[in-house]
Formats: sequence, structure tokens, C-alpha cells
Amino acid sequence: MEFEDLTNMFAQEEDNSSSSVIADYEKQIFDYKQLIQISMSLSSTILDLTKLIETINYTTLAQMRTLGAGMFVMRTFDSNTFSLDDNYTGLEPDANIEYEIPVNCKFTNFLTEQNKTFTIPELKTAIGNENLPVQISSLKPTLIIPLKQKNRLNGVLLLGEQIISEPYTEYEREWILMLASLAAIAINNTSLIEQTTTDMMTHLKLKTYFYTVLEEKIETSVNEDLQLSVLMLDIDFFKKFNDTYGHACGDYVLQSISKIIAREIRGQDLAGRYGGEEFVVMLYKTDSKAAISVAERIRSAIETEKYVYEGSELHVTISIGVATLDSKEPISAKLLVEYADRALYQSKENGRNRVTLASKDMPSVKDNLAANENKKNADSEKKPETKKRSKSGAKTTKSKSTSKTKSKE
Ligand code: GH3
Ligand code: MG
Ligand code: MG
Repeated sequence: MEFEDLTNMFAQEEDNSSSSVIADYEKQIFDYKQLIQISMSLSSTILDLTKLIETINYTTLAQMRTLGAGMFVMRTFDSNTFSLDDNYTGLEPDANIEYEIPVNCKFTNFLTEQNKTFTIPELKTAIGNENLPVQISSLKPTLIIPLKQKNRLNGVLLLGEQIISEPYTEYEREWILMLASLAAIAINNTSLIEQTTTDMMTHLKLKTYFYTVLEEKIETSVNEDLQLSVLMLDIDFFKKFNDTYGHACGDYVLQSISKIIAREIRGQDLAGRYGGEEFVVMLYKTDSKAAISVAERIRSAIETEKYVYEGSELHVTISIGVATLDSKEPISAKLLVEYADRALYQSKENGRNRVTLASKDMPSVKDNLAANENKKNADSEKKPETKKRSKSGAKTTKSKSTSKTKSKE
């Protein structure tokens, strides 16, 4: 071989190796850009834990050459177990196993202390076979990733079967750990928002949060010509539970009823604790006929449920008022709730344990509308340019409740 050929060959090799280094760097830049994108998308889905988990699983599948991903998280901020979220792919849970892992156990305590990913054999060596929960081993994960924020474990991510059965590289394991820490921050934020918008005793939403969502949904309903209804509920003769059996019994009734309400509505609806023993429910995309049937279902479920408190069987009923938004004549969230409240009052007046649909002819509502209309006219005479309109051009009104008979503000 000529000397010139030899130098060409070395130059070629050098070219090849430097181009493979460049390709590696390009891949890393791409991967870090992905992390930024993921971070942004995780922050925007913050209010919805289901969506958040979907995003994390989807990203994992795309990035980690795996056919499966699933996550154990706390269903509510005060859960004492991590549960396998329903949004898993490519994992095969055993129908005989309950996929719940105590928040405090050898396995979770160990992961809390670690800042790395594990295969099943690595975990067995580290904590012993007997401390590896069957909920994990039965899913046959190829990699187990703690979702950690500061020193707190917010969940556990599992990867399923690999597309190419080669061990994960160190680079891949580092990358998924970074994704996991972003995911853990997002889960923590979601949990903080959940805590600050939820009533601790009933686990239903607080009134202020309920109103925020209701205002938004009314606007969407008006713009898209959708139906929306509100239920107002009040436990009948609730005081007697407190008076006869004590306050703790009243709390038990409140919690039982809240569970029934939450169980009887869909994911797109929203239930809130309005005050003491009063509840409010928003039924999205629901006309008055369907709303009455949901209300009737809740009423009957509450009446037929068996409540036993310290050996005594209790009979609990509830009165409900229903109001439906007319998207052609939109009204404010406050006024819509006021309609439902007036209908609830009628249910009480007519003997309790019943459902009443609000009518626009109810005196206090009529007064409200008239007062509201007068105020709007006065405002528009003063400063017409500030008159508020929704995107569809329909007028949106904001009024203060003037009900004297049953104020709930
Ligand atoms: P009605 O059928 O007319 O609604 O009768 P009621 O007895 O339910 O009437 P009212 O609304 O006046 O009573 C509500 C009671 O609820 C009064 C209050 O002491 C009690 N209460 C409010 N919040 C709580 C709570 O968090 N726990 C308990 N145990 N009681 C509560
Ligand atoms: Mg009441
Ligand atoms: Mg009551």
C-alpha cells in the first residue's frame, strides 16, 4: 500500500469517528430539546392528573424503545397507597392482585433514598426478594424509575417489554431519570392545586373553585351552543343527626352523601361543597330533562343507601333544585346557581326528598333578572364601550344575589 493510500485511510477513519461523535451530540441535543418540550407540556396539563400521566407514558414509549409503560401514583393527595393508574399500556396486570402499594414500605422507602433507575434483578439484590411488592414483579417491568421531587416519592414509573431486548444504556437510564424528575414536579404541582381547591372533609371541590369552573363552562356552552345544568342539593333535617347522635355522626352522613354524589356523576361534571350540608353540581352538556334524571338518580341513591352509625341505622334524604342554562339567553354562574337554589327551596317547601326544576317565573329570580337588566342599562348609558360580550356576541351578565329568603353567599 502506498503511503498516500495509508494517509487517506486514516483520514477517512478519523472522518467516520468524528461524524459519529457529531451524530451522538446531535442526538443528545435532540433529546434535551425533547425534555424542554415535555417540561412545557407537563406544565400545561397540570390540572388534570389523568392527562398528565397519559403525557408521561406516551413520551416514555416514544423515547425509550419500549412497548409498555405504566405508573403508580397516589389517587388523591391524602392517599396512603400508590395505585396503578388505569392509563397504562403494554403491561399485563394479574386480575387477582390489587395494584396498591403502601406509601410507607421497604420498597418505597428504598426508592425515596435513591436517585437511580433499577431493573428487577438490581432491586432484588438491593432490598431482597421478599421486599419487592408482587404488584411490581407481576408486571414484569424492564426498568423501574422512582418519580422523586426533593426527597419525596410522588410515584413509580415502570417500563414494559423492550422493542430490542438489549440492556438499557447508561445514557437512556439517565434520560428517563430526568424525565421522571420533571414528571414528579408536575405531579406535585397537580397535587398542590388539588389540595387547595378541595374540601378536606368531603373531598368535593370548594365553592370558589366550583364557580371558577362554572363561569368557564358557561362561556364555552354559550359560544358552542351547548346545554349545561346546575343542581343544588341540601340534606333534609340534617340538624337531627348532629342533635341526636353528635357532630361526628353528622360528619359521617356528609362524607357518605358526598361519595354518592361523586359516584353518580361523570368525569366532565363537577361536584362542590357549597357550605355546611349543601352541595352544588355542574352537569356539562346536559339539558334539563337529563339533569332531572341525574338529580333523581342521586336523590334515590341517597334515600336507599344503608347508613349505619355506631350500630344505629340512619335514614337520610336530600332535596334538590335543578336549573338549566339557556345558551340563547346566557346568565352568570351566580344567577344560574340562584335559579337552582330557588328550585331547591321549592323542593323543601313541597315536603323535601324531591327534585324540582327551576322556572324563570320564580319571584326572586325574576327580581334578579330585572335588577340585573336595569343595572346593565344604567352601566351601558354611562360607559357603552365597556359593555362585556362573550366571543359569540351574546351578552354575559354578572349580578349579585338578592335573595332574602335563603342567602348562600
Ligand atoms: P332542612 O331540611 O330544612 O335543610 O333542615 P336542616 O336541619 O338540614 O337545616 P339547616 O340547613 O338549618 O341545618 C344545617 C346544619 O348543618 C346546621 C349545622 O350545625 C350543620 N353543619 C354544617 N356544617 C357541618 C359539618 O361540617 N359537620 C356537621 N356535623 N354538621 C354541620
Ligand atoms: Mg342547609
Ligand atoms: Mg338541610
